[in-house]
Amino acid sequence: MAVSRTRQARASRRRRRRLGKVVNDLTDVQWAAIQAAWGGCAYCGAPGGRPQRDCVLPVSRGGRYTLDNVVPACASCNASKCNDEVTAWLRRKKLDERAFLERFVAVQADLRATLGAVA
Ligand SMILES: [Zn+2]
Repeated sequence: MAVSRTRQARASRRRRRRLGKVVNDLTDVQWAAIQAAWGGCAYCGAPGGRPQRDCVLPVSRGGRYTLDNVVPACASCNASKCNDEVTAWLRRKKLDERAFLERFVAVQADLRATLGAVA
């Protein structure tokens, strides 16, 4: 009994390690607030539509779907960025890396202030 529980725990730890990288603790409220704050694609500024959740630090590099790592991205940016490191990708796309990072920091501060009140 104890042994099987240990084995189970170990298997679930392994599973968690494997799935750990796609942990998604972003709530619908947070996602709505993120979209409202950016008002379009975080990278190219394409407005509206149905933006996708993009991890600024890609999941493959240890990023997660969390409030401080998700931005709205249009389908085109999301597909193009994929697993690339964000600043290198922005530079390659000739997008304004500095503007993005400054906006990212400002949006994060905003979100924390807004959502902090809710939580
Ligand atoms: Zn875009």
